[in-house]
Amino acid sequence: MNITKFKKIMAANRGEIAIRIFRACTELGISTVAIYSQQDRLSLHRYKADEAYLIGKGKGAIDAYLGIDEIIDLARKKNVDAIHPGYGFLSENAEFSAACERAGIAFIGPTPDIQRRLGDKVSGRKVAVEAGVPIVPGTNDPVRTEEEALIFAKSAGYPIIVKASAGGGGRGMRVAQNQKELLEGLRSAASEAKASFGDATIFLEKYVKNPKHVEVQILGDKHGNLVHFYERDCSIQRRHQKVIEIAPSLYLTPKKREELCSYALKIANSVGYINAGTVEFLMDKEENVYFIEVNPRIQVEHTVTELVTLRNLVQAQIRVAEGYKLSDPEIGIKSQKDIELRGFAIQSRITTEDPDNNFAPDFGTIKAYRTAAGFGVRLDAAAGYAGAVITPDYDSLLVKISTWGLTFLDASRTMHRALQEFRIRGVKTNIGFLEKVITHPVFLAGDCDTSFLEKHPEVFE
Ligand code: ADP
Repeated sequence: MNITKFKKIMAANRGEIAIRIFRACTELGISTVAIYSQQDRLSLHRYKADEAYLIGKGKGAIDAYLGIDEIIDLARKKNVDAIHPGYGFLSENAEFSAACERAGIAFIGPTPDIQRRLGDKVSGRKVAVEAGVPIVPGTNDPVRTEEEALIFAKSAGYPIIVKASAGGGGRGMRVAQNQKELLEGLRSAASEAKASFGDATIFLEKYVKNPKHVEVQILGDKHGNLVHFYERDCSIQRRHQKVIEIAPSLYLTPKKREELCSYALKIANSVGYINAGTVEFLMDKEENVYFIEVNPRIQVEHTVTELVTLRNLVQAQIRVAEGYKLSDPEIGIKSQKDIELRGFAIQSRITTEDPDNNFAPDFGTIKAYRTAAGFGVRLDAAAGYAGAVITPDYDSLLVKISTWGLTFLDASRTMHRALQEFRIRGVKTNIGFLEKVITHPVFLAGDCDTSFLEKHPEVFE
């Protein structure tokens, strides 16, 4: 297979992930193209690229980044060789990757066919079953009627979780303890899913009690080679959304780790997975592991994996899309053995949310912004400077702090120190809340499951 070296890459995204992509490109000597909406005309990602173009004139802030034809037309006019979709927006849209292919522009991610097979949760579950990987007991197909839901409830028992097949970011999910909540949940999850993802398809799973969320990072090339980069623990969640992520997990025995990673590779192999992706699992108290979904794209929390494996995942994504084999020096992974774990990493998501007002997004101009720095601290910021204007147009992620330490305790202490060092004035942030979590004895003991924040309301005080 020929190698196509990219000269120019567009990030079809905004915020911190667009900047993350530009940094990877610049280090590889590839020039960068940003797109920005009218609402983002002052945003940092625009200024971090070699070229930047306004898109979506007259459209809403989100819709501007969803205009497939406009983005591809622009990329063609500006001689873009490849598009990196980041996360969110068009990153899992098979129509978009197919349109890139048709336009002769490389899509830095899996093929449209792989995206279709894994992109929604119902079809992902089918792939897992065929690959011999355990899934959470649930409905095999979308649930279309109340009757179908009640039949499942009768056989599985409560609690049940109603989930949107197209769901993401914790949206389109309802936990039901009884029949009344199930019937309500069906309606509200479907309408939330329709509004958020344009797809009201719903299915049901047995609600696993107080599980841990563990996920495996994978990377495949176009030549049939696949590796994993071990796991991340993302159990600290608020409303099913990740808040703090850790790599590697603190409680997997070597045998369990091996099992989890081999499940991830089985699923990936069964579809001939290409590029970076994440296979997500839940693990219950008895250490039963259940597949939940595949995210066929780079994830917010990829930074912690980069820190513990010393591998640049975004650069590897680009190299794979150029046609390199994993074993080529440009990627440098001759075999699975080359991926080694060193120490521990933690990521905290600093958001412009007001913990005193039920984490409502806060807006305004950042008046003062002093960052943390020093040994073991990595920052990936979107609007990290004094004068930046935070508007209601986009999600509230302001900066990701990732810390590294030889032990989990070292990484936690560095995170605590970094959080204390930060000064952000002008908008409210969740820093105080993150500090309470990071110093909590249950956190330090590595015992958090997905119910941690619910069970410890003191961290919100
Ligand atoms: P999303 O795509 O919105 O992130 P996921 O399917 O990845 O949704 O689930 C997000 C979180 O919701 C999980 O990490 C877990 O905390 C919770 N969750 C999802 N499915 C179940 C389940 N069957 N039982 C218990 N918790 C679940």
